[in-house]
Amino acid sequence: MTQAPPDPERKGTRRRASKGSTAAASGKTPAAKTTPAGRKAGMKAATATGGRARRTHPSIPYTADEVAEIFRRFAMQRPHPTSELEHVNTFTLLVAVVLSAQMTDMGVNRATRELFRRADNPAAMAALGEDTIREIIRNVGFFRTKARNVQRLSEILRDQHGGEVPEDRASLEALPGVGRKTASVILNTAFGRETLAVDTHILRLGNRLKLAPGKTPEQVEEGFLRIIPDGFLRHAHHWLILHGRFVCKARKPDCPSCIIADLCRADERWCEVPAPLVTLPDAPPGPQPLPPGAKRPGC
Ligand code: SF4
Repeated sequence: MTQAPPDPERKGTRRRASKGSTAAASGKTPAAKTTPAGRKAGMKAATATGGRARRTHPSIPYTADEVAEIFRRFAMQRPHPTSELEHVNTFTLLVAVVLSAQMTDMGVNRATRELFRRADNPAAMAALGEDTIREIIRNVGFFRTKARNVQRLSEILRDQHGGEVPEDRASLEALPGVGRKTASVILNTAFGRETLAVDTHILRLGNRLKLAPGKTPEQVEEGFLRIIPDGFLRHAHHWLILHGRFVCKARKPDCPSCIIADLCRADERWCEVPAPLVTLPDAPPGPQPLPPGAKRPGC
């Protein structure tokens, strides 16, 4: 797996986390550092793990090794995950993500096939005009506002960025219709940055699995950034989205198809037997299939 260079945003998050919680996460609470009983407990934990105490965050019921195993399995299952939004370059990915708010990827793809056939760069999109864009994407939710945003962001990219999509968060978030989540998707998918855009699926997984509890996308994002081991953050966004979309679904999780069922701490879990860990093709993504006629024992 190709490793992206360290991401400054992630380091920042870890530094912020360390102020309030990393000491506790590593077992080095003030009591652990300063009292004989605390030091003894720390030494005992370190001895049990071969000299290195396993770091767990106090707010989640997983050891660091369990978290690493969860993401190792995701990586084995989908080595090359990618967006389901159809695009031909970074600009069309940006437009597709802007159109995807409150929409399924399939619905966006139906609209963008015609849109990108007629304009696949900022100059061509700006020349197309807001009225034509609106007509092409009329089946997309909030199509009037989105058409205006696509037209304006295309003009800005053409006039201020040489027709290129900028690679820094501030410039991206200055574009019409682009917020933190959209910028994170672009930075991650197009530029290989270690960002984690929290959508409805990742928000649900963070809380349901108790991996990164939080009421807001920002809290869940910070929780995941704190626990995801080095080397896994590059693709964590897509692994979590695909897991939430196809396996750990909102209404009822499909636990017999879940490759982390033995590790999961969700109250909704109804099967503890993990599905076979099989590498899935890049496209189309989907749930872990059961062999024909097979039944999962114990479920
Ligand atoms: S075991 Fe069930 S609840 Fe837990 S992650 Fe898998 S699908 Fe979701």
